[in-house]
Amino acid sequence: PKVNPFVNEPVKSYLPGSPERIELQRELERMKSENIEIPVIIGGKEIKTGNTAACVMPHDHKHVLGHYHKAGRREAVLAIEAALEAKKKWERLPWSSRVAIFLKAAELAAGPWRAKLNAATMLNQSKTFKQAEIDAACELVDFMRFNAHCLSNLYADQPISGLSAWNKTDYRPLEGFVFAVAPFNFTAIGSNLAAAPAICGNTVLLKPASTAVYSAYVVYKLYEAAGLPAGVINFLPGDASEISEVILGHESMSGVHFTGSTKVFQTIWKTVGSQLDSYRTFPRLVGETGGKNFVVVHSSADPKTVAHGLAEGAFEYQGQKCSAASRTYVPKSLWPQVQDALMAEIDKIKIGNVEVFDTFMGAVIDEKSFNNIKGYIQAAKNAEDAKIIAGGGCSGDKGYFVEPTVILTENPHFVTMQEEIFGPVLTVYLYEDEAFEETLKLCDTTSKYGLTGSIFARDPYAIQLANEALTHSAGNFYINVRPTGAVVGQQPFGGARLSGTNDKAGSMLNLLRWLSPRSIKENL
Ligand code: GLU
Repeated sequence: PKVNPFVNEPVKSYLPGSPERIELQRELERMKSENIEIPVIIGGKEIKTGNTAACVMPHDHKHVLGHYHKAGRREAVLAIEAALEAKKKWERLPWSSRVAIFLKAAELAAGPWRAKLNAATMLNQSKTFKQAEIDAACELVDFMRFNAHCLSNLYADQPISGLSAWNKTDYRPLEGFVFAVAPFNFTAIGSNLAAAPAICGNTVLLKPASTAVYSAYVVYKLYEAAGLPAGVINFLPGDASEISEVILGHESMSGVHFTGSTKVFQTIWKTVGSQLDSYRTFPRLVGETGGKNFVVVHSSADPKTVAHGLAEGAFEYQGQKCSAASRTYVPKSLWPQVQDALMAEIDKIKIGNVEVFDTFMGAVIDEKSFNNIKGYIQAAKNAEDAKIIAGGGCSGDKGYFVEPTVILTENPHFVTMQEEIFGPVLTVYLYEDEAFEETLKLCDTTSKYGLTGSIFARDPYAIQLANEALTHSAGNFYINVRPTGAVVGQQPFGGARLSGTNDKAGSMLNLLRWLSPRSIKENL
């Protein structure tokens, strides 16, 4: 069979009175009063370990959505056994049968499950309806459909058969199981970290982020509803420190699919490296990690377009996208106009409860993150070579709210120009107009990351210079638009340097990491 041509799932508008808005509101109310108990799920069986933690709403952190049971070492062992057992049958299915299950999941997610996925993401991760819609509805669906489309092309791709032999490529899954480690910030990414290896015939141990277990559980239930056989994805919420040692130490651990911090991915890589002799294969390590994403502005840029791009890029989802704009280089001549337009954008931003439909920013994910962001804001307040020119306020009593904050610094190496903050903090450095090329160099060498970045310019030669000077500074490079919001199938997402292995989530490149082809020659 051949899968339909790929089309992105359209973003719904949620206008007042629209059926999608009414359904979403109903789902939000239901979830807030449900007080759910979330088990560990291994081989399709629910396990209640009794070691529990709360799922909270970041914008109202005393409100508990429910509790989840934590997996420990014992569950990790059981999950490995279940994954290896399930694999025996799962890998033998024709690829089209596996794809069919994920296409069914996509249909459910785009239709009857849409409100559930969005509501869970709004409540658990403090996303506005718009941010939830582009993540838990559209991107989640797009990942599944695009993977199906890629596989359909891949399996059709066969080597040349000559006069003396029939040749065939057998796209085998990896031998063993895959460990998927998910972040809190995108429900769709967590879903795809497990789904991409699974659709290729692998079985998976999924560790959701501890701050987003609630929505990860809804996604797990979606797969179950679509008919995913037991044990293909095993759901292991809990502390990574408890389960990773067992999982990474197993001889059949054949791959890690990770999105999260650079430091954790490095630790995983070192752990795997230190016990290479004990594995049956070379485990595939695929990770998307941190970023310190830049926006370089040229003097030919349109100041309003720049300000709009900065406000969206830095403050949407409270700056908690890996791709968020966090440092910008603006020519001195343009700054007064950019600053005015940026302040006007910031004045319009509404922060607060994400269940209110005109809110632009909710809360940051948890207290740890709140305190970390506060620390960076404090560093700017204390510094001689930096000052806060917008926001800077934080209030943690009801929810973890941080104002959209702009720091102006005269030091291009100021701490907030270099370190990832994962919050709504943008740092501005002003350069002399004629120093554009030096500024490009500065931008390239200031950060050890290479995830996303933008150039704003109307002069095509300036764009060309930036394109060349910043070749390795970003895996996703944007021209005259914010550096966030990559769309599956349109801008494959990922970066190199310390931002990860750049295997582009939701792409053929990524799927190939979960396959180990066998070439077969049959003599005629
Ligand atoms: N793909 C998202 C974007 O382009 C970011 C993904 C992430 O935060 O990991 O904005």
